[in-house]
Order: sequence, then C-alpha cells, then structure tokens
Amino acid sequence: MRVLAPILLWLPAALSITIRSPSFVSYDSYQVVRVKTGQHLRTVQEKLSTLSYEQWNHDIHHHIDILLAPGQLSAFQDLAIDYHVMHENLGDSITAESELKARWKRDFGDLSWYDSYHPYEEHKQYFDDLHAAFPNNSEIVSSGSSYEGRDIYGLHLWGDSGPGKPAVLFHGTVHAREWIAAPVNEYIALQLVTGYNAGNNITQLYLNKYDFYIFPFVNPDGFVYTQTNERLWRKNRQPGPGNSTAIGRDINRNWEFGWDANPLGASTNPASQVYKGEAPSDAPENKGLDKFVRKLRDGAGIKLFIDWHSYGQYILTPFGYKETLYAPELGKWTKAASIVSETIRDSSDAKTTFTFGPSGATLYTTTGAAPDHVYSVGRAEWSFTIELPDTGDFGFVLPPDRIRGTVEEQWAGQQALWELLDEEFFDGEGPAIYLGM
Ligand SMILES: [Zn+2]
Repeated sequence: MRVLAPILLWLPAALSITIRSPSFVSYDSYQVVRVKTGQHLRTVQEKLSTLSYEQWNHDIHHHIDILLAPGQLSAFQDLAIDYHVMHENLGDSITAESELKARWKRDFGDLSWYDSYHPYEEHKQYFDDLHAAFPNNSEIVSSGSSYEGRDIYGLHLWGDSGPGKPAVLFHGTVHAREWIAAPVNEYIALQLVTGYNAGNNITQLYLNKYDFYIFPFVNPDGFVYTQTNERLWRKNRQPGPGNSTAIGRDINRNWEFGWDANPLGASTNPASQVYKGEAPSDAPENKGLDKFVRKLRDGAGIKLFIDWHSYGQYILTPFGYKETLYAPELGKWTKAASIVSETIRDSSDAKTTFTFGPSGATLYTTTGAAPDHVYSVGRAEWSFTIELPDTGDFGFVLPPDRIRGTVEEQWAGQQALWELLDEEFFDGEGPAIYLGM
C-alpha cells in the first residue's frame, strides 16, 4: 500500500547523511585492531599499558578491540603481539558508511532504506509514514524529550480488537554509536504493518495478542551527535554535574533498579563512557522512559522487553548487577534465547549465532541497566538485551551492506520468540540447557 501525502513532505535528497560540524572527528588513519588475549591476557594488558588507545569491548577474555591514533601505530607494532586489523583506516570506513545511496525512493515500502544509514529526521518521517499506512491500528507515541529537546518517539501498534493487550516494548539506540539498532526496530515495525495489511495470518495473530511499542531512538541527541561530530559517541549530551566539563550520562546505567548495587557495574566519573549520573533517572531520557515503563506495567502489563544494542552477538537476560544472581525465569529465558539463536542461524546465509545467558555472568557486571529494571520494577515477563552483529570484523561501524541481512534475520528471530511467549514449553521437558555456550 502506498501513501502519497507524506512522501511529499520529504526534504530534497541529501548527498551525505547529515551536515557535519566543522569539528567533526575524521578518524583519518586511525586503526581498529583485535588483539588476541586468552591465556596471555595479563601479558597483553601489560604491553598495551605503554600505549594510549580506546577500548571498544568489555569482555576481554578472548580478545581486546582497540582504537589506535596514527601516532600510536608504530609503537603498537613494536609490541609484537598477536592481532588482526578490523579497520585499516577508520576514517575511510566512516566516510563509506555515511554515503547515502540515492536509490531509496522515499517510500517506506522501498527496502533500499535498509541499504544505508539515515539522518534522525528521516527516521522520524519513516515512522510517521508507517503510521499513515496503518491509521486505525497504530499511533505515534512519545516517552518525552531528550536533554536537547528532541522527541523520543515510538510507534504503538495493535490488532483487531483495539489497543489494550500486554505490551511488547522495544528500545533502540540507547548507545548512540550502535547504529544498527534503529533499522532492526524499523524493519520489525514494517513487517508488522505490511504483514497485517496484506492479510498475513501469523502477523495478525501477533498484533491481536500484543500491543507493540517500538522506540528506535531512545538517545536521539547522542545519535545526532554521532552524525555531526563524533561517530563513536555513546552517552547522552547532558552536561556533567557541578564544575565538571564532561558531557553525557550513560542512559543504560541510569535506571533506578540496582543503580547503586555494585561499584563494578558503572562509573561515578562524569568523563567515563559508563557514567551512571548523580542519581537514578537524572537523565531526562531515562526519566521519560521509566515513566512509560511504569504506565505499561500499571496497564495491561509488559510481556516482553528488548533493549537493542551492538556489537558482539549476545542475547542477555537479567541479572546484570550481580553475576551470581539468577532469576527464577532464567530457564525459560535461556531456552528461548537458544531457540532464537538457532532460528537466526538457520534463516541466514551468514549463519549468525548468538551467545546467551544472564548478562552479569555471561558478559560483565552492569548496574542501572534497562533489562534488570524493566523486569524488576516494570515486571516484564521476558526481558532481554540483544547485542546485534557483528562479532568484531567491524564492530560499531558496521558497513551499510550488512544492514539488510541483519534486519531480516532479526525478524526471523523475533517471530520464533513471540511463538514462545505464552508457551509452557519448558516445564521439566527436554534436555538441560547449559549457560554460556
Ligand atoms: Zn550498547
């Protein structure tokens, strides 16, 4: 179904992704490398301690992914450690990533949307168009405003008998540089709308059972900043406390539940990438999202919550704040995660697989993170973090030609997951599932 009116509102085609600030960080001649660790972790860390670099990953038992400035490259090579290059020249990779292909016809039904990355305003329009194509079964919703006043918009979708069913809630792009999260959210919304409109029974069944609330950008200021100034920005754009000149809180360390439970789970340093804020929900984005979560909880309840991130290919469940604490639902969550991973592997040419388990034990400790909060305070029956591809060929700067395959395989994975939400399939049947495959 084509909707003509909104298409007329599109701005003239932009040649590049957005207007870059004169202070845009080019990363020209910067390299990203994956250093092998394993049993040599301590030696490798000692050698690296002589350099200055930015670390991309947190789980360093097998490898450390690091960003090196041009001035560090020869000293790095002198360390004689085992590594391979992820980005030969990160500046070139970022430039290639941001070149908008002119093919997209500015119509949400044109799948070439998923062949490139786009500016925030175009994403917003994309959801307005999806809503216009599904006027009686959807509404644009908002969880409030970002620090810089951008709307944290979402699409609420429902089926035959009107809104009011248990919620499936998605948050994307809480970390600004994780660009692949938004297209995944958008593709799932697109499939729901077009499938329902086309009379697809299974899609209609999902929408008749659940109300979907899909928020592709819960950190819009950070996302815009990654396009105008600094591709690798992670946090929001809120100034630090007091006299601090540091900018940004990590919205995914700012949730109330477990906010102060473990000093290893976040940072109290405003300059840190994982700065937790001065108090729970003192990031305006978090405040609005939390209010929305509580509203859903007090309504028909939350069936499923997913916080979409990249990278690493993990499906993680509570708890993050304490690695030895296992929720009573862990068995069913783990089994479901294994089925999602298998489904995705079988559906994709890339044979993508995911590591799964409780996030603290599987990956690393996090306090004030969304899945713990939406499970514990929001009482979500199912609560996940999904770390999207890849596993480290490109990391955060995933080339545009990887978008389409990624969104398609996630759609396959979600359908498998939604089949399981009301099943009693795990009650004492089947083989035991061991964590941390
Ligand atoms: Zn993230």
